[in-house]
Amino acid sequence: MSASRNVPPEVKARIEAIKKIREQEERVRKNLEKIKYKIAILSGKGGVGKSFVTASLAFALAYLGRQVGVLDADIYGPSIPKMMGVAGQPVMATDDGRILPVIAPLGVKVLSIGIMLPSEDTPVIWRGPLSTSAIREMLAYAEWGTLDYLLIDLPPGTGDEQLTIVQLIKDLTGTIIVTIPSDVSRIVVAKAINFARKLNAPILGIVENMSYFKCPDGSKHYIFGEGAGRKIAEKYNVPFLAEIPIDPRISRANDSGEPFFVKYPDSEAAKIILELAKKIIDIVENKENVSE
Ligand code: ADP
Repeated sequence: MSASRNVPPEVKARIEAIKKIREQEERVRKNLEKIKYKIAILSGKGGVGKSFVTASLAFALAYLGRQVGVLDADIYGPSIPKMMGVAGQPVMATDDGRILPVIAPLGVKVLSIGIMLPSEDTPVIWRGPLSTSAIREMLAYAEWGTLDYLLIDLPPGTGDEQLTIVQLIKDLTGTIIVTIPSDVSRIVVAKAINFARKLNAPILGIVENMSYFKCPDGSKHYIFGEGAGRKIAEKYNVPFLAEIPIDPRISRANDSGEPFFVKYPDSEAAKIILELAKKIIDIVENKENVSE
């Protein structure tokens, strides 16, 4: 009797399932291997502007002459399409079934579960394995073409789900942690740093968003507290990359689907984001100041 005949059907099914996952992981690896730099953007909690930072950084990198793609893996609150001005654009596929990203201003390529939903109000009721498999499909079958940077906007939090997504990307260049300067954020940023350290990829640094509000007379007001991001960066010995101000035009632009960075290039926030993009280029392309 051959050994294979003794394998019960449920075990065979499990082996097949594992094989399929392996095959798809290999497909993801192959599909992403031509992309030079893959950066995951994460935050310990929602609402800190992670998607805004991802979208704006993508535009800034494109403005600096890089070819950029954004994968919106924040499956529960996909706000990237609107922030990047591509909401409602139809997603196309190639004849051989590969998914074509939509093209945002400055030629940035965008792929998001949000683009694939029939309407903005459609709830994404997928949980755990299903959402991960949707992202795995996007990673395996997206036709990115030539890219210098792929920015991956992760769901907020630092649990198993985020881990599963990032671990699909074998040669991640690094992570960026986005936070706001409140005291509560300090605890979640510490968690995010510990999470990022598990990933075998360098932490490129911390970006503090909504750091202050600047009045027309030039005075700065630290609405959520001052300096928490910088302090935590020092404590954990990771680079502190930027302090982005609160600007009511940011949420207005995001709500109306006009990319802030493109619409208000002369604003203080846009200039700071441009400096942030230059720092990222410096860190990853010159491999300087990278904190393991
Ligand atoms: P997250 O991805 O962390 O959940 P979002 O990027 O969706 O957060 O931002 C949450 C809300 O805050 C959005 O309405 C966005 O327009 C707004 N926002 C983000 N950053 C700023 C800022 N610096 N100033 C004003 N509003 C901001």
